[in-house]
This record gives sequence, C-alpha cells and structure tokens, in this order.
Amino acid sequence: MESNKKVEVNTPYGGKLVNLLVEGEEREDLARRAGEGPTLQMTPRVLCDLEMLANGGFSPLDRFLSKADYDSVLNNMRLANGMLWAIPITLPVAKLEGIKEGQEIALRNANNNLIAWMRVDEIYEADPHVEAAKGLGCSDEEHPTYREMLSWGKYRLSGPMKILEMPKYVDFPELRRTPAEVREVLEDMGNPNVVAFQTRNPMHRAHEELTKRAARDSGANLLIHPVVGMTKPGDVDHYTRVRIYKALVDAYYEPNTTVLSLLPLAMRMAGPYEVILHAIIRRNYGCNHLIVGRDHAGPGKNSKGQGFYDPAAARDMLKKHGPEIGMKCLPYEEMVYLADQDRYEQITEVPKNSKVFSISGTQVRDNYLAKGKLLPSWFTRKETAEILGGAYPARHKQGFCIWFTGLPSAGKSTIADILTVLLMEHGRQITVLDGDVVRTHLSKGLGFSKEDRDTNILRIGYVAGEIVRHHGAVICAAVSPFRETRNRVRAMMRKDAFIETYVATPAEICETRDVKGFYAKARAGVIKGFTGVDDPYEAPFNPEITLQTGGVTPEHNARLIMEYLVNQGFLLSDTSEIVKEDRELQAV
Ligand code: ADP
Ligand code: ADP
Repeated sequence: MESNKKVEVNTPYGGKLVNLLVEGEEREDLARRAGEGPTLQMTPRVLCDLEMLANGGFSPLDRFLSKADYDSVLNNMRLANGMLWAIPITLPVAKLEGIKEGQEIALRNANNNLIAWMRVDEIYEADPHVEAAKGLGCSDEEHPTYREMLSWGKYRLSGPMKILEMPKYVDFPELRRTPAEVREVLEDMGNPNVVAFQTRNPMHRAHEELTKRAARDSGANLLIHPVVGMTKPGDVDHYTRVRIYKALVDAYYEPNTTVLSLLPLAMRMAGPYEVILHAIIRRNYGCNHLIVGRDHAGPGKNSKGQGFYDPAAARDMLKKHGPEIGMKCLPYEEMVYLADQDRYEQITEVPKNSKVFSISGTQVRDNYLAKGKLLPSWFTRKETAEILGGAYPARHKQGFCIWFTGLPSAGKSTIADILTVLLMEHGRQITVLDGDVVRTHLSKGLGFSKEDRDTNILRIGYVAGEIVRHHGAVICAAVSPFRETRNRVRAMMRKDAFIETYVATPAEICETRDVKGFYAKARAGVIKGFTGVDDPYEAPFNPEITLQTGGVTPEHNARLIMEYLVNQGFLLSDTSEIVKEDRELQAV
C-alpha cells in the first residue's frame, strides 16, 4: 500500500517516463538503416535535447515537436493533446541537403558517432522572430537564446526516434543519473515529498539556507539538481560548479535526505516559460516541489539595464500552472545576510534597522576574484571560496594578448621587443609571436595571398588563444591587415583578454623608414601585393590602444601599453604590491 501511494503522489508528468533507448537486434537493425540514410550532425543544444527526450526527462515528449504541437505550444502553451508545455523543443536545420519526408536518417554527434535513428515524418518551416516572441516570451534582440536562434536555420524536422547510443560522460559519472535512476534513489529514501533546487550558478550560503529552509518547511527531501548541459554564455563552467556542489553536499547537507544529481539540460534562459519546463522535468525526476526565487532562469539585464522578464513572473506562472503538473511552487525572495544576528533572511522579512549584507555576482567577480581576494565566510563556505579562487585567478595572474596591427615598418616589432623586456622586469613570462618569425616555423610555406595571410593570422590567433586560456601573456606582432580576420582572432579568446594595439604610423613615414627595404622593392615592382603599396590595410575602428610613433620613442610607446595593463588590472602598479597581496592571501 505504502509504495503504491508513493507512486501515486509522484507519477511522472503524463503518467509514465519515455525511454527511447533500444538494444539487441532492434538496435542492430535501426543502426544499419540509419547508416544507409542521410546524416544530420547535431549541435550541442540538439544533443542535450535529444538526451532529455531519450531518458524521459522531457516526458511526455518522445520526439522533437511536430508542426501541430509546435503551433499549439506557441499559441496556447500546450501540446496539441492539451497538455501543458512551454518552449518548443525542436530539431532545427539550416539546409536540408537531400533530407526528405519519409526518409530514415542518422543523428550523429560532433565526432560523427551514430547516436540515434530517426524517421523524418515532417519537415516544416519556423520563423525565429515568432518563435522567440511566443515560445520564449521575449523578442528582445539581446536575449541570448533569441540571438542564437537566428542562426538555427528555418527548417524543423520531426518524426519517431530511437536512441542507439546514449551520450557518454567521463566527468562526474557517479552524479549523472536518468530520471528513472533518480526516482529510485528518492524512493529508497522513503519520503514522497521532494523539493528540487534548480541552479546554474555556484552555491553560496544564501542558497544553502534557501534549500535547507525549503526542505524543512515542506517536510521534504531535497534534490540539488544543477544544469550542466548549456546555461547562459559566460556562466561559471560546470566543472568548477560541480566541484563546489559536491564539496558542499559532502560537508554541510544531511546525507539521508539530500541527493545531488546533474541535469543535461540546455537552458533557454526563458524565465516564466522556462519555469514550466523546469517543473515538468523535475516532476519526471520524482520531485513535487520546486524552489523559485527572484528572476528564475532569467538572462539578467539587457544593455539598457532592463530585465528581460518581470522578476516575479516565473513564480506567478508556476503558482498558476503548478497544480496541473503536480508541482508545488515554493516562492522565495532574495536571501540576504543579517550581520547583527549572523543569519540569512528573505529581504522582505528583514527587521527594521538591521544591518543587511549581500554581494552581487558582478561584485564576486570584480571585487573578490579579480583581485585575488577570498570571498568572506559569511557569504560563502570556505570550500566554495577556495574552488572559485583556484578557477578564477586574480586579474594580475590572468592571461592577455597584446595584438599589434599596423603597416610594415610602423613600429610593431620594435615596441614589442621593448614591451617584452618591461613585462619580464615586472615578473611576467612572455611569448612573442612575431609575424616574420612565425613564418619560419608555425607558418612555413605560406605566402602573401589573402588566403595565406588569413591562415597565418588565424594560426597566430589560435596559439595566442591557447596561451591566454592557460593564463599566459602573449604579444603578437604581425601586419594583420584585414579587420574581419582580426575580429575572428578576437573571438578566439576571453573578451577582455584581446588588446588590439594599433600602431598608427602614417604610410609616408613607414615608407621612409622602410626597415627591411620592402617598400623600395614594392615600388620597383620586384615584389607584388605589399601592404601599404599595392595591397590594402584596414585600420581598426575601435582598438583598445592606439599609438602614434612620430616624434616619440619606442620606449614611450611600450610604457603607454604598460600603463594600460596596470589600469586594466593585468599588472599590479609596482612589484611591492604583488608581495603585499601574496602576504595578505597567506594571512587569510
Ligand atoms: P537560474 O538561472 O536557473 O535562476 P540560479 O542558479 O541563478 O539559476 O538560481 C537558482 C534559483 O535560486 C532560482 O530560482 C533563483 O531565483 C534562486 N536564487 C538565486 N539566488 C538567490 C538568493 N540570493 N536568494 C534567494 N533565491 C535565490
Ligand atoms: P614593424 O614591425 O611594424 O614592421 P619595425 O618595428 O620593424 O616595424 O620598424 C619600425 C622602425 O621605426 C624601427 O626602425 C624603429 O626604430 C622606428 N621608430 C621610430 N620611432 C618609433 C616609435 N615611437 N615606435 C616604434 N618604432 C619607432
């Protein structure tokens, strides 16, 4: 009796879990048929959606939306059969490349491994503007998912699917459980009431208090269910986050009532629409309560400083529709720290005249991590502070790339040489990738056609990007005449790490300098396609640094760059500060 009751309380949304995985002969047969048909290579987002369809996380969906379901979700927030469903889960393609209705096709991952068989029953067209407005409830061009959607292509495919191979993970395998597996763990714990906590951020003391309080107040067990598929671009990576969740759950949560499990969802950052999806998913994973705070699953603010959704919209949406899903909304306001009482409280419940502390995400980054300061213990557990501190070194220990661009003989190499010495004097190790030098090894054999020049620059950019990712400093000095190619290099590294440095020496001065005698040869027609003579140079529109070289010394120019690096925090203003800072850190 008891166990039947549990199932009744906690049935998945729609009654049962979908499972698309096939084995044995059926698998062999479908693998052969898929192998004979056209191939579709899945994007990371589609692969996440596929996994959620396959393991039943998206139950009752068992396929990417058909046209009838798609229209119905957009217009009524329901599937064609009337069940509540927000946000279209679709299989978008830009080009059909021979795929036709009725065909059996192979869905492959980025390595071309066969993941799924699908029969294409329907091909229909989608308008991203309409899909964003009605499916995400937001058509602000800055919305990250809307922006991404513009590149998805106009076709959507639907039809029955079978999974031949589930995506495999080598990171945190013990925490990756299907809905059926999570349900089993939760059932074994014996409490039919379970609170789910959705998160895409590191957990601090406020979140610990929030989750513990929610579980306590509803007499429930707790599922900490972080998203590790795709979250908002720029979020803390999941490796760092999961290390934090693990450390916290081990040290500060009751093991008999708490489960940590990872969710391979690709978020849409669609606030009130996404909360419906989150609730249905958690219902399928065996929960019946969902914590919904301020601006749940919201993408933050747009460039005008406005939120994309009303911060209360997600809570209101789940309060209204939760009963239909079997999911109770546990609404919370922001938790803040009451310094005098050494405890956390919702901001709306704070007694008058109390000293209230809070630290925003931006402050965590700029005031603590960027400065190499450990986060305070009232704000976060020491485990979290240390893991975050290790993953995000202080700004003066982060990598950067000084990317010189300018005409031949503008002064790039000369300034680069002096800058190298100044940086070494400051205690930084430097890699110099000089255009001419690179052409003797990394880019040996490349010529000066547009294509070869681009290849050369992109190779330098790739190496520079790797150096920056490993917290190194790199100076690149190549003419790099094309704006678009430089911008492609910019996109290869952390946004703030690429420091475009335009050496703006006018063409006439460069020609009189003619350090290597190339201008003379180009004028004489001995060499062709020389930048500044018979090949174009496109000056940057908004370089981080612009240097004039007429009437000043190269050393002056190099010191201007040092000044920029100090102002940006990439260098401490003098070495004694480094020593001081290290001492402070050791003292904590
Ligand atoms: P999401 O984008 O899914 O909202 P977060 O990890 O930022 O991801 O937040 C997870 C949940 O916790 C959300 O419901 C959010 O509103 C809530 N939350 C986040 N920070 C706080 C806080 N300081 N106090 C109370 N609730 C919070
Ligand atoms: P590039 O690497 O841009 O082709 P080089 O650095 O090889 O150019 O040559 C620049 C020439 O200009 C050198 O001879 C250098 O001494 C001279 N020069 C004069 N003033 C400056 C200055 N302020 N900054 C850089 N170079 C200068």
